[in-house]
Amino acid sequence: MSEFSFDTLKVNAGYRPAEHNNAVSVPIYQTAAYTLGDSFRADRLFAFEDEDPIYTRLSNPTVDVLERRMTELHGGAGAIALASGMAAVSYALLNAAGRGGRILTTARLYGGTVDSFEHIFEDFGIEVDIVQNPDDVSQFEALIQSDTKAIFIETLSNPFSTILDIEKIAEIAHNHGIVLITDNTLATPYLLNPFEYGADVVVYSATKALSGHGNVIAGLIVESGKFDYSNGNYPHFTKPLWFLRDADDKKRNMLEIFPDIPFTGRARAIYLNYLGAALSPFDAYLVLIGIETLSERVSKQISNARAVRAYLEDNPSVSWIRHPEATDSRYFELAKKYFPKGAGSVVSFGFNGTESQFRIFLESTKIYSYQANIGDARSLIINPAQTTHVELTPHARELTDLTPDTIRLSHGLEDPDDLIADLAQAFAKAFV
Ligand SMILES: *Cc1c(COP(=O)(O)O)cnc(C)c1O
Repeated sequence: MSEFSFDTLKVNAGYRPAEHNNAVSVPIYQTAAYTLGDSFRADRLFAFEDEDPIYTRLSNPTVDVLERRMTELHGGAGAIALASGMAAVSYALLNAAGRGGRILTTARLYGGTVDSFEHIFEDFGIEVDIVQNPDDVSQFEALIQSDTKAIFIETLSNPFSTILDIEKIAEIAHNHGIVLITDNTLATPYLLNPFEYGADVVVYSATKALSGHGNVIAGLIVESGKFDYSNGNYPHFTKPLWFLRDADDKKRNMLEIFPDIPFTGRARAIYLNYLGAALSPFDAYLVLIGIETLSERVSKQISNARAVRAYLEDNPSVSWIRHPEATDSRYFELAKKYFPKGAGSVVSFGFNGTESQFRIFLESTKIYSYQANIGDARSLIINPAQTTHVELTPHARELTDLTPDTIRLSHGLEDPDDLIADLAQAFAKAFV
């Protein structure tokens, strides 16, 4: 663990100016490849004996700073940056599942993730089991099978910001020798470090609040370094492979090559290498700049979300509000435990009106921007049942309580009074 606290690390970790011509701002290394020097150095580079970059698909000094910074912000062992949150989710799950394993998860997930189970994982022979009521953690235990390789949950789910008892779910995973992978996108590492509660792997869409300005698509996988992949459940980590051979042509396995970072090491050597969703150096730079103000932005977004929630609570055009900090939320106690700084800035509510009033309302906000994103510096509005979560089957919709009247608000950095006035004028237009 670092001697420094989160806010110091977020602007400094993983970067030493002296190693980069004393540049204060992280340089953008806009290069595809790196000269190999002499042929003996090339031998070492290609035998995984030297970590210097070879080719930007696999590593790049700018991307490297982002990976190191995220590792340090989590007190983890390693990280890998990728071209999108979907790449992070899918590479992490493929990496855990191996050949034909099972993933145990819930229906309370980002719509694209749910959809990928059917369209990607089935093709790889990977089965996905869905816990029907994840609030009852014993249901996780009951569904674990001999070939289950991972439990996957969102720490603060999209769109309803539900919270699961991460610590108990980690205990169940570890009792069965399997990893807990958490999608911490909505929470961000400022609000929650899942490693503190036993998660083994954390994934992000850095597109959202982590970068925070709606100007980049990016993803990350971070690993704790504490999980034992030699426990018999992960033969794909222990099988000796020709492409990992040493100078004497002796095959080696992933754990020999990456003893400290087996998960992200394998994800890089296999999935980033061969599926290729590399993050560009410029995009890594944008995420780094975003992280520098993460705490300040998320704090302000939370205070805006709280002000708007108070306004919505008194509004006859609102039939329900879902946010863990609402006193009637079933996640109120879990929010106190896992999210003492605030349970995020996404607030969803039920629109109490006809379909045409619903459509007028969506089109009438002037500050809240109607778009499929969250975590931006600007406040955003959307109707998830018809857009971001349109892929959900009727059964998945039922499991997540996603009804057609749902409006999701993601709070930005504007003035809270202006945000409330914006909603008020949109309600007024819808209910003339
Ligand atoms: C947006 C999102 C993703 C996908 O990330 P992209 O960067 O859009 O590929 C994954 N998980 C969650 C929770 C998200 O909100």
